[in-house]
Amino acid sequence: MQGAALAVRIREQVAADVAALGQVGLATVLAGDDPASHIYVTRKHDAAREAGITGVDHRLPADVDQDELLAQLVELNLDEGVDGILVQLPLPDHIDAGLVLGAVDPAKDVDGFHPLNRGQLSLGRATFVPATPLGIMTLLAEYGVPLEGAHAVVVGRSEIVGKPTALLLLAENATVTICHSRTSDLGRMTRDADVLVVAVGRPGFVTADMVKEGAVVVDVGINRTEAGLVGDVDPGVAERAAYLSPVPGGVGPMTIAMLLRNTVQAARNRRSPLASPRS
Ligand code: NAP
Repeated sequence: MQGAALAVRIREQVAADVAALGQVGLATVLAGDDPASHIYVTRKHDAAREAGITGVDHRLPADVDQDELLAQLVELNLDEGVDGILVQLPLPDHIDAGLVLGAVDPAKDVDGFHPLNRGQLSLGRATFVPATPLGIMTLLAEYGVPLEGAHAVVVGRSEIVGKPTALLLLAENATVTICHSRTSDLGRMTRDADVLVVAVGRPGFVTADMVKEGAVVVDVGINRTEAGLVGDVDPGVAERAAYLSPVPGGVGPMTIAMLLRNTVQAARNRRSPLASPRS
């Protein structure tokens, strides 16, 4: 499942939508010096710029005062030129991430991490769905993967990937199993999956013997190794799977495309607040 190609098409549509809207703004807030986070935020701004979205890029030191960070968010919440706000995770240890994510205006919360948006997602009426899970679902839809009645197994239960992905699969009437580090006999679960989503953060964690013949496998993992960027799924799985999303070029590019799409959605909603949230 080639996310890179699909993401290009979505970004073209986003650029057309931005041109029609006139001006769309995306602000990011990054605290600390995690090199991967700096790369991710730079990539998001590059993609936003290419789509005609105006970027506001706040990079704060690792020892930033929590109140200062919150004050920055208040300013962005009030800024009429900013439609979407993204707080890059992880935040430094001394910062209360829950408090910070809860301080983003839910109407500008294009990452879908505000408690209100998380709650709406679990009720099946989300305004903003987190970008990676939305990218996974869009990729599955693009390839016509049947979800109704399918057994979907999600390995990983993080708040940003595993849990929201499981909720979205459930909303599509899949029968969902969520696995994590305490799951006993993981292979028994994964071998029963028609659709297997792997978001663990361990290179080559899922091997061919853990996958059913003809399953659809989505590899969310991004692991930097000496051999380069690799996923959580061993490439040998391609021999057994009907579909496998590659790393790189699978879910990663979809995540950025979905962030841009959510930003356009936020801009539309803010211009006509009475319109349906996901038109
Ligand atoms: P995370 O917060 O570290 O969560 C990892 C999950 O894997 C946890 O739920 C953990 O279980 C589970 N796990 C760990 N060891 C396991 C084991 N031996 N057996 C079964 N489950 C196990 O990671 P994340 O943020 O969800 O990210 C996961 C991966 O996706 C990472 O490689 C990350 O870089 C990548 N990622 C990619 C994108 C993208 O755009 N493509 C976006 C976000 C993340 P417990 O809950 O029990 O600890």
